[in-house]
Parts: sequence; C-alpha cells; structure tokens
Amino acid sequence: MTTIDRNREFAGKTVLVTGAGKGIGHATVHLLIERGARVIALSRSAADLDALKQETGCETVAVDLADAHAAREAARSVQPVDLLVNNAGLAELQPFLETTVESFDVTMNVNLRAAMIVAQECAKSMIARGVGGSIVNVSSLSANVGFALHAAYCASKGGLDAMTRVMATELGPHGIRTNAVLPTVTMTPMGERAWSDPAKSGPMLARIPLDRFVQPVEVARTIAYLLSDDSSMVNGVSLLVDGGFQAC
Ligand code: NAP
Repeated sequence: MTTIDRNREFAGKTVLVTGAGKGIGHATVHLLIERGARVIALSRSAADLDALKQETGCETVAVDLADAHAAREAARSVQPVDLLVNNAGLAELQPFLETTVESFDVTMNVNLRAAMIVAQECAKSMIARGVGGSIVNVSSLSANVGFALHAAYCASKGGLDAMTRVMATELGPHGIRTNAVLPTVTMTPMGERAWSDPAKSGPMLARIPLDRFVQPVEVARTIAYLLSDDSSMVNGVSLLVDGGFQAC
C-alpha cells in the first residue's frame, strides 16, 4: 500500500484554479500549494490576485471569464496544466418573474460557458500530451434544489452537473476524470451576501444535520480529493458537501 505524504501530494503537478481571488478558490489555492502543487490562479480582480501571489507564491492571470474570447486566450496561455478547478462563479438573486435576460446571460456565461471553454483548452492540451488528468467543476447544492431567487444560478449549476457527466464520458477514455462538488452554503463573500439574513439562513441551517454551514477549506479538501489519485476510479460524480442536507 502506498502511503501519501500530504505535503508532497501534488508535487510536480501544475493546477489551474479559476475564481481564485476569494472564498473557495482562495482556500483551494492555499491548500494545493501547501500540498506541493504549482498553482496558476485565475480571477477577475487584480488586487486579489496580487495579495494571493504575496501569500502563496502562486502565478496569476487576471481575466473576466464572462468574455468568451478572453477566457479562451487566458486558458490557452497557461498550458500545459495537469489539473483544473473550474470554480469561478457568481450569484445574482432575483425572483423568477423578474429575472432579467442580462442577469441570466452573465450567470450562464461565467458559471457554465466559461467552465466549458477553460476545460476544453486544458483537456486538449492533456490529450495532445497523452498525460490524462483530473477536472473538478465547482457546482452547488443549487443544482439539485430549487432555492427561491436563484433561477439563473440553479439553472447554471444544473447545467454544470450535466456537462460534468458528458465530460466524464468523452474525456474518460483519454484518462481524464471529471467530477463536480456541490457545497451547501459556504462562508465566503458570496455565501455571506446571499445568506446573511437570519430569517433566511435559520430555516436552511435547520435542514442541515451537522447544524452548520461549510467552511471554504472543507470544500477545498474535497476538491483536492477529487484532483488526487485517491479518487482514481471516481469519474462523473456530483459530490455533495452539504452536511447531510439532501439525506433527509
Ligand atoms: P466568491 O466569494 O464570490 O468568490 C468568487 C471568485 O470568483 C472571486 O474571486 C471572483 O472574482 C471570481 N469570479 C467571479 N466572476 C468572475 C469572472 N467573470 N471572471 C473571473 N473571475 C470571476 O464565491 P465563492 O462562494 O467562493 O464561490 C466559488 C464557487 O463556489 C462558485 O462557483 C459558487 O457558485 C460555488 N458555490 C458557492 C457557495 C457559497 O455558499 N458560497 C455554495 C455552493 C457553491 P471577483 O470578486 O473579482 O469578481
């Protein structure tokens, strides 16, 4: 049996993490660097990336993933990468009847289309090099549950899970595994914006058997598991990080 040295678990691996400036992406960069990876952190705000570079020594790329052309160019420019975390996402809360076309489009473009574009560039490079790889799409419990005010967001995450399964099917024969993680409310800037009202968060918390929301590092550890050889036969799953919300 092989013993894994966690400090060197990702030694020799280059990982691209999108949405790395804050929250789950930020925690993931820290964790992967602690475990020996070379990390390329891609995000929108340059100031966040500068701070992350200072903290961890990661490399950085500033780009707005809502721009399809810029997203493709940025993803192409950082190859070759061995592992990808498609984490960038946004949530604009609107009642279904008032959800605007503009909000729907930007949500789809960042949460779903950009994940496709970035993964296409990474997977093409992996296939050309014949190396295999692992891709983790950061989805959400919202892929499975219809939370009020989250029409565009839920649709984008449902789409991301569906695309994850197609990627697992088509990329699997090339030795590339693709999986999704589905956190419940996570204590990040996004989570705090959406769930800071106790009237809203109370009933949500009451449905979580572990009786708390998720910390970003707990999602990062799940992502690391799916990136690593520990999950070498796991492909096409949507892995809940929800404290048991969907079990009951
Ligand atoms: P966050 O705190 O808002 O951080 C999101 C990161 O993504 C930020 O660094 C942000 O950069 C970046 N980003 C957003 N739009 C971008 C764009 N157009 N181009 C490039 N980068 C962009 O969010 P989070 O809570 O960490 O969420 C990370 C992922 O987890 C998302 O996919 C989200 O849907 C998912 N998730 C979150 C929760 C939760 O409760 N927090 C639960 C389930 C799933 P800027 O700040 O510069 O825009």
